[in-house]
Amino acid sequence: MSNYQAPLRDMRFVIHELVESGPICALPGYADCDAGLIDAVLEEAARFAGDVLSPLNPVGDRDGARWLAGTDGKGEVRTAAGFADAYTQFAEGGWMALPCPPDYGGQGLPRLLAVAVSEMWKSANLSFSHVITLTHGAIEALLIAGSDALRATWLPRLVSGEWTGTMNITEPQAGSDLAAIACRAVPQADGSYRISGQKIFITYGDHDMAANIAHLVLARTPDAPAGVKGLSLFLVPKFILDENGNPGAHNDVYCTSIEHKLGVHGSPTTTLVHGDHGGSTGYLIGQLGRGLEIMFVMMNSARLSVGTEGLGVAQRAWQLASEYAKDRVQGTDVSQKSGERVAIVRHPDVRRLLMTQRSHTEAIRALAYTIAALQDIAHQSPDAAARDAAHRRVELLTPVLKGWSTESAVELTSMAIQIFGGMGFVEETGISQYMRDARITPIYEGTTAIQAADLAGRKIARDGGQVLVGLIQEMRADRNRLAGPNNPQLQAIAAHLGESLDHLETATGALLEKMNRQPAAGLLVAEPYLKLLATVVGGWLMGKAARLASQAIEGGSSDPFYRHKLASARFYADHLLPRSAGLVVTVQADNSTLLGLEDEAF
Ligand SMILES: Cc1cc2nc3c(=O)[nH]c(=O)nc-3n(C[C@H](O)[C@H](O)[C@H](O)COP(=O)(O)OP(=O)(O)OC[C@H]3O[C@@H](n4cnc5c(N)ncnc54)[C@H](O)[C@@H]3O)c2cc1C
Repeated sequence: MSNYQAPLRDMRFVIHELVESGPICALPGYADCDAGLIDAVLEEAARFAGDVLSPLNPVGDRDGARWLAGTDGKGEVRTAAGFADAYTQFAEGGWMALPCPPDYGGQGLPRLLAVAVSEMWKSANLSFSHVITLTHGAIEALLIAGSDALRATWLPRLVSGEWTGTMNITEPQAGSDLAAIACRAVPQADGSYRISGQKIFITYGDHDMAANIAHLVLARTPDAPAGVKGLSLFLVPKFILDENGNPGAHNDVYCTSIEHKLGVHGSPTTTLVHGDHGGSTGYLIGQLGRGLEIMFVMMNSARLSVGTEGLGVAQRAWQLASEYAKDRVQGTDVSQKSGERVAIVRHPDVRRLLMTQRSHTEAIRALAYTIAALQDIAHQSPDAAARDAAHRRVELLTPVLKGWSTESAVELTSMAIQIFGGMGFVEETGISQYMRDARITPIYEGTTAIQAADLAGRKIARDGGQVLVGLIQEMRADRNRLAGPNNPQLQAIAAHLGESLDHLETATGALLEKMNRQPAAGLLVAEPYLKLLATVVGGWLMGKAARLASQAIEGGSSDPFYRHKLASARFYADHLLPRSAGLVVTVQADNSTLLGLEDEAF
């Protein structure tokens, strides 16, 4: 199997032309960033992803992380061969610091660049990339709510990658339902807290790649109210810091086992027990009872990150399928009489599968990078109204990306296996790893159902669809610009997009009506609604890409990239946008009898 090659041409197109890096680099705080710097960073990241992370991907899959039992429940994790060394190179290369604030040693580069770099880590080695996502999550939590002392002690060493972070939310009885979290935090005289309880499924909860781990733990104090309002967030170090701020004694938090799972074998999924040997020491982050609020702010970033996982895995699976299709000879070309045996890429159905993968993945990339640029505006713009508008759109689009990208990754990696035929089903070609790895992405960081409920309830019904209406208006205006010029390709795309926008408006009306009348009836169709909105947003962005590609071609560009982009956008309009016609019918349907049916019917 070849090593991963980052799709630099498409990344540069989306960053510079579609999303437009110019205005993003002009935001306060990004003075040192320009197109040249962005391209240089992309190339360097592509090298690291291709040369260092990608060769380790099958190693992680085959050998997995290992658990060493230790004594007295004090287990430890060893990552697969090569992971620790790659992590040292990663940290020394300054990659952890890329999107982090300069005040703590970060490079302060735009999120628009960071999302592309992050896509590369996820394409090259999803299991390895988890430690980056979790560490960035811990950094974000400390930036949002950490005390000055916690920030000063922990942030420089998390930002440099010297230490890593985890997110300790899930417990056996508390998965999607955070109100059920039972882990306890008892205040101590010195201002710290004694943490006890069991957390499960904690990614990189223990490992041998860094000198310390900052566990961010959701727990409740003895007098806290029941439910999510009683949750507070604590930093629980693996090693308690000594008087010089260096890792000292082992805290009472140990890994008692790791999971054996369908995919992401290289990423340790641990059970952590806090406080079985007297109680682990934790430090409050933010105020008591505000744990979930802090988590919610972080969640937008974490969900963008998992959305980018779907993108990265789908991209890599397509890359491998495309290589295989040009190599594997089977059958003859139906449109040639010569009878010569040809590579399977000549077969119409294989072309359909490959172009589905390509156009779908490109649409997801366009959405992920658009959200990252909106985050840049929401954080850096000097204009309060622009910040607010960008923030609202990020809130609306984040569950759309997370749900759509990850569900699509399962579909698209399955298509890659289809292209490999029987060789896709056996392990030796390596393509099956991508489908296995993709399968977790619609589950963690909020399942697709949770994303759909968030979209339908908090992001649409709560404001009567106001933010969405603004987006639909913008999509309509862009569609009308597409339909204008005398260009049959663009007009065909505009025609499909117009119909799909009609479907979206009809479906939005139906969803709002259901949510207002009987929320359960709305939630019954929230997932198909999410897919409908995502499909149309993807079509809108691909339409914009088609317009830019047409302009480049009409302007005399001979770069084949633009012809290929136009073909991909046209295919998306012809083959993927029409899915909206089926989805709108589903969203409108009255299935409320389902709600009253006895459980035995299911
Ligand atoms: C590999 C891996 C890594 C993980 N990493 C971490 C980590 O680092 N930190 C951490 O804290 N957790 C982690 N998790 C846990 C993960 O976030 C949870 O598995 C996820 O939130 C779902 O919870 P659950 O597994 O308990 O499923 P459940 O909540 O039991 O859900 C089961 C099914 O019921 C549905 N469902 C549940 N509630 C609702 C509802 N209200 N409305 C509609 N449908 C609903 C779900 O959509 C799902 O289909 C990880 C899990 C895995 C497998």
